[in-house]
Amino acid sequence: MDKIKMKVPLVEMDGDEMTRIIWKLIKDILLEPYIDLKTEYYDLGLEYRDKTNDQVTVDSANAIKKYGVGVKCATITPNADRVKEYNLKQMWKSPNGTIRAILDGTVFRAPLIVSSIKPFVSTWVKPITIARHAYGDVYRDVEYRVEGAGKAELVFTAENGEVTKHTIHNFDGAGVLLGMHNLDKSIESFARACFNYALDVKQDLWFATKDTISKKYDHTFKDIFQDIYDKEYKSKFEAANIEYFYTLIDDAVARVIRSEGGYVWACKNYDGDVMSDMVATAFGSLAMMTSVLVSPEGYYEFEAAHGTVQRHYYQHLKGQETSTNSMATLFAWTGALKKRGEMDGIKELVDFADKLEKASLLTIEEGVMTKDLAQLSEVKNKKVVNTEQFLKEINDRLVKLL
Ligand code: NAP
Ligand code: MG
Repeated sequence: MDKIKMKVPLVEMDGDEMTRIIWKLIKDILLEPYIDLKTEYYDLGLEYRDKTNDQVTVDSANAIKKYGVGVKCATITPNADRVKEYNLKQMWKSPNGTIRAILDGTVFRAPLIVSSIKPFVSTWVKPITIARHAYGDVYRDVEYRVEGAGKAELVFTAENGEVTKHTIHNFDGAGVLLGMHNLDKSIESFARACFNYALDVKQDLWFATKDTISKKYDHTFKDIFQDIYDKEYKSKFEAANIEYFYTLIDDAVARVIRSEGGYVWACKNYDGDVMSDMVATAFGSLAMMTSVLVSPEGYYEFEAAHGTVQRHYYQHLKGQETSTNSMATLFAWTGALKKRGEMDGIKELVDFADKLEKASLLTIEEGVMTKDLAQLSEVKNKKVVNTEQFLKEINDRLVKLL
């Protein structure tokens, strides 16, 4: 078989620790034997980020704006421990935060469902897709540590010089402060991305905030969604026989647990961060959660929803065998290749990515899986494999499908 040719490069963003190991294995075993892989490579591994003063992260996001599609490996978000471990110049910001701030948009996270693994929530029979707003709030905040008594104020200076002040709190001792923001423009594109996605997959859209407590901030989100829905989407939703449903975030959580799934759940940035981990874990494993950022201009960044699996990496460094699940990282690649194929009109690339996804799901359904899934699966005659074996088992099935 001739290798599949690509026209436009995919923006490839390498990462850290165990996922960096998996990244290379996926390319070696499942991609490069079949595709003349054309990528523009950015090394987002922490060492190189530090070396370039994080410029490489900014460059990679701009490359996505240039080419349209990127695929990203999990990366370390440094904390104090990491600054020491990697001897960093400074505690660099979260690469995901930086990239999302440049691209804007919404992150859609959906679980990969296999018949052999039952969700912890027994009523969930259909996937729940979390749509996470990827701009602002606590991820772009300004924080201040109050060391003693004093008055904290919220001050806004308009372009014309007019000043508005609100007292936040009169401190009589130490405490903490946080200032955060969002933009109507970003919320509007979040809303449209969610309405479009729901129409695409023909599923209801749920949205929830805490507008009863946050009467300006969260209420703005609620109002913008409702306004855009009424003006632009109501009739389309009715024609598709799907619903837009708004409720309070605590009510939403209760309803989600009692539901049977099968809808898109739009969440503000922080809610989406937390809820996607909960939903992913309840569906089985963080390693079975796919994630794609869709920008308002129609740029795509595919990634895994989990982190760099640090514990497994340290085992790997000690020469011990690992059994790390590569499904989410693999689906980041297939999602990106498929999107590239669709955009460039390369049908073979789309077909290949489809078959690779099928082969990987089939591998698990036939009982071949990594440790994380083996603990959950009800299949008899399970075969627990190591990180590399799992990819080779997928390849065996891929060869047959091709
Ligand atoms: P993590 O990498 O998501 O892993 C947490 C635990 O979940 C693992 O220890 C493992 O459990 C299990 N797990 C996650 N992915 C797995 C996989 N593919 N296969 C098998 N098990 C898996 O989170 P972390 O260890 O707390 O964070 C490590 C680093 O990742 C941090 O530096 C953080 O900044 C970064 N991070 C990056 C991203 C991103 O780039 N998108 C997202 C989150 C975190 P067991 O150890 O019990 O086997
Ligand atoms: Mg998270």
